[in-house]
Amino acid sequence: MERLCPACNTVLEYQVDHWHCSQCRTDYRLRGLCNTCGTELEHLAACGASNWFCPQCNELKSKSAVQTELVVIS
Ligand SMILES: [Zn+2]
Ligand SMILES: [Zn+2]
Repeated sequence: MERLCPACNTVLEYQVDHWHCSQCRTDYRLRGLCNTCGTELEHLAACGASNWFCPQCNELKSKSAVQTELVVIS
């Protein structure tokens, strides 16, 4: 799935565990928020599948129930 840089709209390059903008030379990571309780979700990637887990609700969240946003890695 393509993601665009929030700053310059360049398509980000995916690099192992983060996203990189070659234009801004900035690294981003994807953050997921639970739409039930607003807690930051843990991203579980296993066997090519990616899942989101909410430690507050104590359950896995389907993609449709997750709001994702890109945050700059400092
Ligand atoms: Zn950029
Ligand atoms: Zn939750």
